[in-house]
Amino acid sequence: MENKTVYLNGEYLPLNEAKVSVLDRGFLFGDGIYEVIPSYSGHLFHFQDHLQRLENSLAGIRLANPHTREQWLDILTPLLDAKFDQYIYLQITRGVAPKRDHAFPENIPATVFAMCSNIVPFAGLNQGVKAISMDDTRWKFCNVKAITLLGNILHRQEAIDQGCAEALLVKDGYVIEGAASNIFAVIDGVLCTPPKGSDILPGITRDVILDLARKNNIACSEDKIPFAKLQTASEIWVTSSTREIIPVVELDSRMVSGEKPGPVWQAMNQIFQAYKQSLIMSEGVIEETFFEFPCQFPVKAMGKADMELDLLVVEIVRRHAPDVKEDAVTTRPSKDGNFIAITVIIEASSKKQLDAIYQDLTDHPHVLMAL
Ligand code: PLP
Repeated sequence: MENKTVYLNGEYLPLNEAKVSVLDRGFLFGDGIYEVIPSYSGHLFHFQDHLQRLENSLAGIRLANPHTREQWLDILTPLLDAKFDQYIYLQITRGVAPKRDHAFPENIPATVFAMCSNIVPFAGLNQGVKAISMDDTRWKFCNVKAITLLGNILHRQEAIDQGCAEALLVKDGYVIEGAASNIFAVIDGVLCTPPKGSDILPGITRDVILDLARKNNIACSEDKIPFAKLQTASEIWVTSSTREIIPVVELDSRMVSGEKPGPVWQAMNQIFQAYKQSLIMSEGVIEETFFEFPCQFPVKAMGKADMELDLLVVEIVRRHAPDVKEDAVTTRPSKDGNFIAITVIIEASSKKQLDAIYQDLTDHPHVLMAL
């Protein structure tokens, strides 16, 4: 076992020295929640969204949040290594009670455990995976990221036993999600995913994909998907933080999208990869900012490295900001060399002007991302 440093109740210590009592309510009852937060080159991906879900899960089991968001960031950051793509596993249980009793104990500190692991790229990403459908036998609060995952693991193991990578769970004739993933399907040209609710875990990857799809003019819907419709889908994907967007090329032994990843997946995966790179390259912090105009504004766009993207981006920006100088343009390749980021500093005069620039940039097929 790799003896990495982990965090347990205020201490950083080697994994093999991290111990919890057998009276911990996580051990006795599965009374706790968890989060999985990816980190790319040391930048936590959608950290605030993960913390929001953590807060919702804690509220869902009536457990007080032991830390503020700033404290969580301080706790988790030392576990990261910027040399790798990693994920943080964070677990909070209702602590160690003096005796085994179903009722909540009083005045007991929560147990907080966090560790970091490297993300191993999922083998099925590029060629797709097989999936099987089965009746969803889990509990009624699937929106809570509870550590009680027995239902999920039994579903996943059943899928693995049948040579599949994921189980697609069906309830009352509608497909819900995977055993450890959300589901997307391309049906009649529309990218469909079930709506949020207590049936599904509100995946952060799911939200990012929907947001990117809308920004890139891919038609999408958040409606219930009848299982019969799923069987006619031209593409099916399952999504999660550690595996990203996995195409399903076989469902219940029937071929999906010609047994290879489909064109919408190709487009979305490229957009998603470019988006990840763009977050890393913009130091991982993209927040709503309010500007007073006029002001200097960095317009950023990303695309594939084999395009003359700098000329294209400057041409688009000049449509709305004609006096852009050559020295206001910088280009930066991504770490893997597949993408290029262009930054053009402009003298922005209004939000309307910026909106027009971003509209033209996102409308252009060679621009995968504009920030
Ligand atoms: N649904 C379930 C049941 C999951 O366990 C997971 C992740 O593990 C997801 C969906 C995907 O969530 P996320 O994209 O936040 O990883």
